[in-house]
Amino acid sequence: MRTLIRGGTVVTATGASAADVLIDGETVAALLDPVHTGALVGAADRTIDASGKYVIPGGIDVHTHLDMPFGGTFSADDFETGTRAAAWGGTTSLVDFAVQPKGGSLRETLDTWHAKAEGKASIDYGFHMIVSDVNSQTLKEMDVLVGEGVTSFKMFMAYPGVFYATDGEILQAMQRAASSGATIMMHAENGIAIDVLVAQALASGRTDPGWHGRTRPPELEGEATARAIRLAQVSGAPLYIVHLSAQQALAAVTEARDEGRNVFAETCPQYLYLSQEDLDAPGFEGAKYVCSPPVRPKDHWAHLWRGLRTNDLSIVSTDHCPFCFKEQKELGRGDFSKIPNGMPGIEHRVDLLHQGVVDGELSLARWVEVNSTTPARMFGLYPRKGTIAPGSDADIVVYDPALRHVLSAETHHMAVDYSAYEGRQVQGGVSAVFSRGEVLVSDRRWHGQAGRGRFLPRGACQYLR
Ligand SMILES: [Zn+2]
Repeated sequence: MRTLIRGGTVVTATGASAADVLIDGETVAALLDPVHTGALVGAADRTIDASGKYVIPGGIDVHTHLDMPFGGTFSADDFETGTRAAAWGGTTSLVDFAVQPKGGSLRETLDTWHAKAEGKASIDYGFHMIVSDVNSQTLKEMDVLVGEGVTSFKMFMAYPGVFYATDGEILQAMQRAASSGATIMMHAENGIAIDVLVAQALASGRTDPGWHGRTRPPELEGEATARAIRLAQVSGAPLYIVHLSAQQALAAVTEARDEGRNVFAETCPQYLYLSQEDLDAPGFEGAKYVCSPPVRPKDHWAHLWRGLRTNDLSIVSTDHCPFCFKEQKELGRGDFSKIPNGMPGIEHRVDLLHQGVVDGELSLARWVEVNSTTPARMFGLYPRKGTIAPGSDADIVVYDPALRHVLSAETHHMAVDYSAYEGRQVQGGVSAVFSRGEVLVSDRRWHGQAGRGRFLPRGACQYLR
């Protein structure tokens, strides 16, 4: 099957130019100067008209929690609904988090997550591993997983008693990562101090969702980020700070990068567009915006956009971890600390970042870079993913920069009963989505199939010095 995408503007991390794209089977065969394409039209089985549109590499969301167990329930999207919603929004690969249970083995955990995805995923996927129990067995298994294409391990300085690891445990895992070429991903918030603030707030009757934000102050994200950076420095491991939300944390990352260290960070759309004001919405509405770290006061937004421009923030992922408002978020009525942490967003990342282009925050090339190219290079998928070049997988989005649409639970494809962006108009939207040459979305119709997605074994981070 040969597909020709004609008349569009191909945008990659290096810039934009008028070019036609020839797909042969699952991969990109050629980028053509439109002047010379004419002769090839007859050779293609199908031609897609991309006039007036961008042709971009499919988005890569490197932070999702599909079918994730949480307190006797699961995040609302599984690998079928979650990957379908991702594709609707222009994301064609994701890296999800397998979660080691306390006392469980990494090897068995990985098998469990393979089983969750198989037969369900409609786009390609890889896994990171959450290490919640550092012991000699776990440390050995980290090397085994690297050999199976799971090259990144997430740890938590937050959530004492659940995922929390001590500085000593973190150091040990980092040392192991340093020797195997793996990356340590860090949830950097000082969970010990936060738990004190949470207990004090609840004891004084402060139970509303807004207090979720006030008991997790940005200083405690900044402190933990700086501590993680120094532990990584001592161990020699590369460090990737997940879901960075606060300017204090960004300052620590910027300093480390100015020192030339292998320190990287991502942020998420909720930290660029939502704020403490949303958490403080009347009644229990604020529960919709509860995630950790929390959405911050609005004055953090400009710092994060600056970080994205200067590459102190390298990637925008979603931390998609949806819980329905009814019955799931409602578990925290009368006690904000019991609200499941997480927000839906897998479908809207590409559009919300394109809105950043419209608003003058990002260049077109940078939009593609934080969306696709850097995620691929950071997590060992490039150049198979993350660009449009001969030999790369034909994961391609035809994107209409003029399309205006309104984000809403009425129209989204995520299996969750609310939108964190209800009623927000964005400019730009997906026109067609290809995954390995197959059409998943076109003409506002779904053509994909559950189970066609493949596991992506990954190599090491491609930015290390
Ligand atoms: Zn997460």
